[in-house]
Amino acid sequence: MKPVDLRSDTVTQPTAGMRAAMAAAPLGDDVFGDDPSVNALQEKIASQLGFEAALFVPTGTQSNLCGVLAHCQRGDEYIVGQMQHCYRWEGGGAAVFGSVQPQPLDHQPDGSLALGDIEAAIKPDDPHFARTKLLALENTLGGQVLSQTYLEKATKLAHSRGLSTHLDGARLFNAAVAQAATNGSDARTEAHRIASLFDSVSVCFSKGLGAPVGSALCGSKELIARARRIRKMAGGAMRQSGLLAAAASYALDHHVERLAQDHALARRLAEGLEGIEGMAFDVPETNILFVDLLGPARERSAELLQHLKNEGVLATGLYRLRFVTHLDVDAAGIDRVVTAVRSFFRQ
Ligand SMILES: *Cc1c(COP(=O)(O)O)cnc(C)c1O
Repeated sequence: MKPVDLRSDTVTQPTAGMRAAMAAAPLGDDVFGDDPSVNALQEKIASQLGFEAALFVPTGTQSNLCGVLAHCQRGDEYIVGQMQHCYRWEGGGAAVFGSVQPQPLDHQPDGSLALGDIEAAIKPDDPHFARTKLLALENTLGGQVLSQTYLEKATKLAHSRGLSTHLDGARLFNAAVAQAATNGSDARTEAHRIASLFDSVSVCFSKGLGAPVGSALCGSKELIARARRIRKMAGGAMRQSGLLAAAASYALDHHVERLAQDHALARRLAEGLEGIEGMAFDVPETNILFVDLLGPARERSAELLQHLKNEGVLATGLYRLRFVTHLDVDAAGIDRVVTAVRSFFRQ
């Protein structure tokens, strides 16, 4: 049987509809600005999120790099959370390639950065200090949705102190779908509400949206022009990339609202694991369930992951056990995961 792969929402295969859209895409050389499918995607995502312009890039990592380096010069600094992708998980790219210093802050339990901590981290204009230039936030962060009220306050604080703001919205649409469910609104409205608070937003098409490759950085025309130079330097200016942009466009048209199904499956998994002694977790707000092993189980995460693998279930456990739902899992698959975890704790 095919394994139930919950390592990440990046493992999805393009659907038949997406492959057809890719096959039919008109193409050109995007380095000359000639690829109609890339241009259409950039216009679509920029307008959906309320920006003047967007840039299609191969990865979310490169999108964040282009974003941070478009905002910051050498010797500038960005304020960021300890667990955010653009600090912890990108090989220190902003420092390595841009000589931009990160100022990481600890997260609050809800994933936010305390406003007081942000305020305290903004350095005075003094030759001793790097110039604090940018506040970078992430939503969702580890599957947690940062509240609209918090995002409003944090971006307002940053702007009032002359900082720019960047959102790593790799899973922005997961946040938007969850927020829409709470507000009785719709996902596209919520995505726009969140994104419009920021000077730049990076979105991944290759996560829950189910495209094989690609991210977009959105911002002002001027910012995107700077980002375009950085993308070139980073080797991310591609040629007939409309083949990939067509998949991303298809994902925006067809795979946003369905993220609610992934969220429901993550909750189904949490419900199925309820009551197992030695496991602790919060009910997931979106498509990621993190689990902590407690007591005697604490040292057994590698053993559990191996057991799951033997049972045809793939998950990861770098800091905590992580199960991510997506387009290519269904309720039957989730129930297999529950059975496999329960059989481990019965041993
Ligand atoms: C996955 C991810 C990225 C980077 O995406 P890649 O395409 O793997 O480089 C950036 N930020 C967040 C929050 C992510 O989850």
